Amino acid sequence: MRIDALTLEGFRNYDRQALTFHHSCNVIYGENAQGKTNLLEAMVYLSCGKSPRARADRELIGFDRDKARILGQMFTRDREFRTEVELFRGRRRKASVNGVPAKNNAALSDVLHTVFFSPEDLMLIREGAAARRRFMDLSLCQLRPRYGEALAEYHRLYEHKTRILRDSGDYPQLLATLPDFNRRLCQVGAVLIHYRARYCRALAEYAAQAHYECSGQREELELRYQTVSTVHDPFLPQEQLFAALMEHQQSHEQAEIASRLCLSGPHKDDLEVLVNGRSARQFCSQGQVRTAALALKLADREIHKNTMGEYPIMLLDDVLSELDPRRQEYVLNRIAGGQVFITCCENDRLDTLLSGKVFHIRGGEVL
Ligand code: ATP
Ligand code: MG
Repeated sequence: MRIDALTLEGFRNYDRQALTFHHSCNVIYGENAQGKTNLLEAMVYLSCGKSPRARADRELIGFDRDKARILGQMFTRDREFRTEVELFRGRRRKASVNGVPAKNNAALSDVLHTVFFSPEDLMLIREGAAARRRFMDLSLCQLRPRYGEALAEYHRLYEHKTRILRDSGDYPQLLATLPDFNRRLCQVGAVLIHYRARYCRALAEYAAQAHYECSGQREELELRYQTVSTVHDPFLPQEQLFAALMEHQQSHEQAEIASRLCLSGPHKDDLEVLVNGRSARQFCSQGQVRTAALALKLADREIHKNTMGEYPIMLLDDVLSELDPRRQEYVLNRIAGGQVFITCCENDRLDTLLSGKVFHIRGGEVL
C-alpha cells in the first residue's frame, strides 16, 4: 500500500500543491506553522474520511476559500486507485474512489490505511489508562468488526447502568433491573477481554522489538494488559471469563449501589507500560517516552499488516525532536517495509537519510 501522488487545493494553508512521493521514506521539513502537519492530516482524511484533529470538516477549508479538494493516487492490492474528496462550506462533502461515489468512510478505508503518530500520542505513556484504552479500542475496531459491535453494546449498557445507579436514590425500584444489566455487561465484557488480551500480546512482542532496536539495544519495553482482578488468565475461554467477571461484579454490587458508580468491568482496563522494569509513566525521560509511544505505533502497524496483508502508511508527525542521533537514525532508516512520512523542523540530521525523498515546505508550498 502506498500513496504515489497527492494534490491539495484550498486545503488549510495549501492554495494549490501537487506532490509525488517516494515508495519508502518521505521527509517533510520546514519551520513551525508552514503546513507539515496539514499535509499528514490530508492523508489521514483520505484514509478514513475524518481529520485526526479538526472537529468539523469546515475547519479544513482554506480561510478565504469556499471549498477544499484532496486528490490521492494510491497503490493497494496490486491496483491503482484514485480517491477524491471535496469539502464545501455549508454543504455535504463529496468523495469518490475511481470515479464511483464513496457511500461512507469505509469505502475510503478500503483503499488506504494510515497509522498516525502525533505529539499528542505521548499521552499514551504519560497519561492515565483512558488514553491507552482508546488506543486499543480504536485499533481493534478497525481490525475486528466483532469487537466494534461488542464495544458499542458495552458502551450502551454501561450508560444505561450509570443512569440506573444515579437515579436509584429517587427511584429505588430501578435497582430491580440491575441484575439483567450486570449479566449482559459481563457477557459482552468477556468478548472485549478476549480480543484485547490477544491484541496486547501481539502488540507487546512487536513494541518490545521496536523499542529495543530504536534505543540501540539498551532498553527493554514491556506491556502488561491489566483487567478485572478476578480474571487471572485473560486467555481463558469466554465462559470462564464471564464467570470471573460475574464473581467480581457480585463482590462489588453493594459498593456500586452505595457509591452509585459502575466499579466493576473492563471499562477500567489498562495497558501498563514498563521500560527496564519500571513504570514508563513515572520514570521515563522525554526521549524514552517518545521512543515508547513510537514503539506502540510501530507495533500497531505490524498488527495491521498481519491482518490486511499490506503495511499501512506510517505518518510520523514531529517524532525526531528530543531523540538522540542514534534514535533519529533508526526512525529515518530502519523502519522496515511500507511507506513512511516523517515531519521535522530541522534538516541537519537529514544527511543521514539513506534512501527516500526530502520535501522543504514553506507557507503551504514545496520549495
Ligand atoms: P509545527 O512545526 O509548528 O507543528 P506545521 O508546519 O506542522 O508547524 P501546520 O499545523 O501544518 O503547521 O499549520 C500550518 C498553518 O496552517 C498554521 O499557521 C495554521 O494557522 C494554518 N491553518 C490552519 N487551518 C487553516 C485553514 N483552514 N486555512 C488556512 N490556514 C490554516
Ligand atoms: Mg505540526
